[in-house]
Amino acid sequence: MKRRSGQDRSVTQHWRPATLAVRGGTARSEFGETSEAIFLTSGYSYDCAEDAAARFAGEQEGMTYSRLQNPTVEMLEHRIALLEGAEACRTMATGMAAMTAALLCQLQQGDHVVAGRAAFGSCRWLVDTLLPRFGIQSTTVDARDSRAFEAAVRPNTKVFFFETPANPTMDVVDLKAVCGIARERGIVSVVDNAFATPALQRPLEFGADVVAYSATKMMDGQGRVLAGAVCGSEDFVTNTLLPFTRNTGPTLSAFNAWVVLKGLETLDLRVRRQSANAVTVGQFLEGRVPRILHPGLPSHPQHALAMSQMVATGPIFAFEVADRAQAHALLNALELIDISNNIGDSRSLMTHPASTTHYGVSAEARAEMGVTEGLLRLNVGLEDPQDLIDDLDQALRQVGL
Ligand SMILES: *Cc1c(COP(=O)(O)O)cnc(C)c1O
Repeated sequence: MKRRSGQDRSVTQHWRPATLAVRGGTARSEFGETSEAIFLTSGYSYDCAEDAAARFAGEQEGMTYSRLQNPTVEMLEHRIALLEGAEACRTMATGMAAMTAALLCQLQQGDHVVAGRAAFGSCRWLVDTLLPRFGIQSTTVDARDSRAFEAAVRPNTKVFFFETPANPTMDVVDLKAVCGIARERGIVSVVDNAFATPALQRPLEFGADVVAYSATKMMDGQGRVLAGAVCGSEDFVTNTLLPFTRNTGPTLSAFNAWVVLKGLETLDLRVRRQSANAVTVGQFLEGRVPRILHPGLPSHPQHALAMSQMVATGPIFAFEVADRAQAHALLNALELIDISNNIGDSRSLMTHPASTTHYGVSAEARAEMGVTEGLLRLNVGLEDPQDLIDDLDQALRQVGL
């Protein structure tokens, strides 16, 4: 592989994010292909036995096995690290593989974690069910209140884990305040940045230590593949994350890495347009539905905080109707917007979290995090927002709203 400019820090450090999203990390083969090549290979061969030995000993640069290294996957890792402003990044097969690795790689029996209570259903399962099974205690807090993190700290607290904006209630966490509390106490803050992507919010700039992604969402952006990523310091990635992932194997396939590389080329365009569309659609729904949870609207109690740490608030927001029956009736009345629990797609998608994404969370925990029976979550896509408004309008009429 020719190491072309897309991987050379001395060249790329001057590039702005939209340029990095298109070119960062690109490494061309001897054929000089413009679009990144897909290296679908599980292994690598060596010119001689001594080379194989030197590579395993870490004395020779090069790849040994695709669970550990792959040229296409490395291009994606370089690109995400550049966009995030992180020293290093490792991709994973899914967002949940990324969250699991980011937590388990640094925790052990006897440790304690403080987590935001509004979270993706599987993230709550990790914190509430999996960690305690291995003797790692956890406390969930209302992450909108930075002091709640402080109050929950114990002598053995090792990690703060939260997302902002949070799925699906759109709670916003004060990154600077919460990451500051962590840093003062030597606690590692792990931020799930799936709802924002580095195009809208870069938690490391606010003092976060580790940023984890479901790249399935806006990074692919077209609903095609599952992928995840973990970003942090070179020290964290090399000495803490890699020993865990190299041996447990949550590796991203080269094909899926390539799809996400193509997705990143349009990330900046998509998230800006989808954020603008989500504000337009949110403005229509405001006043038409009993309650809307949209950090991009001035009516959201954390609007100012969201705008102070994000470029724009992204494609996703939530709103409430009376109850489950009305929520299901509204979904069934939609003609353009799909009923789907995915997000970050260029298509508009709507779901009822209590019966889908948060079905596995206890009714008690759902109530505590604000996932009510009437809550609906909307991912606003790249369609003309007026068509989305027309669809919502006819569906709302059908359910008497
Ligand atoms: C989707 C999502 C995940 C899990 O990602 P997968 O790619 O589906 O495994 C984690 N956190 C948040 C906030 C998500 O939206």
